Amino acid sequence: MVSDMRYSIIIPMYNEEEVIQETYRRITKVMEETGEAYELVFVNDGSTDHCAQMIEEYSYWDPSVRLIDFSRNFGHQISISAGMDYARGDAVVIIDADLQDPPELIPEMIAEWKKGYEVVYAKRVKRKGESLFKKWTASAFYRILRYSTDISIPVDTGDFRLMDRKVVEQMKRLPEKNRFVRGLVSWVGFRHKALEYEREERLAGETKYPLKRMVKLSLDGITSFSTKPLKLAGILGALLSASGFLYLLYVLYLALFTDSAVKGWASMIGITLTFNGFVLLMLGILGEYIGRIYEETKGRPLYIVREVYGGQRPAGKPTE
Ligand code: UDP
Ligand code: MG
Repeated sequence: MVSDMRYSIIIPMYNEEEVIQETYRRITKVMEETGEAYELVFVNDGSTDHCAQMIEEYSYWDPSVRLIDFSRNFGHQISISAGMDYARGDAVVIIDADLQDPPELIPEMIAEWKKGYEVVYAKRVKRKGESLFKKWTASAFYRILRYSTDISIPVDTGDFRLMDRKVVEQMKRLPEKNRFVRGLVSWVGFRHKALEYEREERLAGETKYPLKRMVKLSLDGITSFSTKPLKLAGILGALLSASGFLYLLYVLYLALFTDSAVKGWASMIGITLTFNGFVLLMLGILGEYIGRIYEETKGRPLYIVREVYGGQRPAGKPTE
């Protein structure tokens, strides 16, 4: 046991002033019912609204509230990583601030944890109030990810999960900058257990994951757990060049042994464009990997904290 703190609930927030009071109320109610010591670790990811001030105020009269205030927006995956750095509980839960993940599932997670599971994750069997586009793209992404990686990352699972202290300690050792936290949790291993739930609609406000961020998250997921796109590029390249060579033989045959001349601006242009497009695409894939290598080598800290409210700062964090 690291401290006498039993549970830490990590709540990343980015412009969530419309929901945060209700989130605080509902999570507090659930946690009070456990009858054990808990803390709520809010991570303010550079919000431009008043949600951080609200939580700061709560932290003055509710000793279980802590606020990690980032110096700017670092992104959802980094906020939850920071939450893990600061969490002191024996079991750590990550939950979204918008109440799409029902806090009422936490006691069930705790029950599984007490049975000896070290990671209890929540699997969405239904998603309410999200566009068909989001559902389809999300589902396609999870399936591509499953195909491309060797470690098994559970399908249709977000970051809503409970982790044992042992798992959190291992997660803290992983230094990567482009983080895909749910994949990393699978990577560190331990005993996992799934709980099914229906994902609710956002209580208020808008999604902070527009298409651009979803694409980034997907690319992070795939590139940090697989080099299959590179292999696929190699295989496709070999196939294309083989077919090009066969076509060349055919053209030579026509020219040498028949009277028919090879016609062909259209086919020239077609082939040139296809092949050049293919080469550029493969360069793009290579670039994705190289860009990530570059990001990792810079050795910048993962996030910068402006201020911590409530509770005590853990010693020796690299960003302070
Ligand atoms: N979030 C964050 N930083 C960001 C974007 C989002 O901390 O840059 C938080 C957000 O406040 C919420 C959670 O991450 O608590 C999930 O975001 P959101 O609900 O917008 O994503 P969705 O549920 O639509 O996938
Ligand atoms: Mg949400």
